[in-house]
Amino acid sequence: MRHHRNLKHVPTDPAERQERVWWLYEHRAWKIEVHGHLFSHAWTCVDIRFNYVDPETLTIEDDETRNTHFEIWLEAGPMFDQASDTSSGFPPPEGGWENHPSRWIRSHDPDLDCGAADLETALLRLANLVELCYDPETWESRSDRPRRCEGTFDENDAYTPGCEPASDGYCARCGWWPHGTPPPGF
Ligand SMILES: [Zn+2]
Repeated sequence: MRHHRNLKHVPTDPAERQERVWWLYEHRAWKIEVHGHLFSHAWTCVDIRFNYVDPETLTIEDDETRNTHFEIWLEAGPMFDQASDTSSGFPPPEGGWENHPSRWIRSHDPDLDCGAADLETALLRLANLVELCYDPETWESRSDRPRRCEGTFDENDAYTPGCEPASDGYCARCGWWPHGTPPPGF
């Protein structure tokens, strides 16, 4: 679950919530262009999971009696054009990518991971993360997108997170919430 200091609050007004859910559905990141027309693949790009978690930590605890709170978890990422991928090392399919049925695949952007107790609220949180990270016109990552600080591994493979929490708990450098448990109010 990703939280950033600059995220908007999820709206409470029902009309505003509905408008925002449709804004997310219509986002350019989920659309692919075929013969000059744009088709939405929003329901391919947003992967819906659910889990029972501890209501305090919002994570799955080893002690299963603690996992009493229902959460919807979302993973999402823009449609990815395999024809543009020159790094895979695989040759293009026979006949080329042009009209190949699996030319476009969904991707996973971990900065969009989110969740909530109900699907509508989870989608509204996803909308906020998409707005923070993606340009609605070009569907590319925003050039000013906040990049999470990278951590480091020492010689014993012990990981030190790169973020430095400020007084509000969010990172002083990248602005992401660096803790395992959610910020107050989530
Ligand atoms: Zn950071």
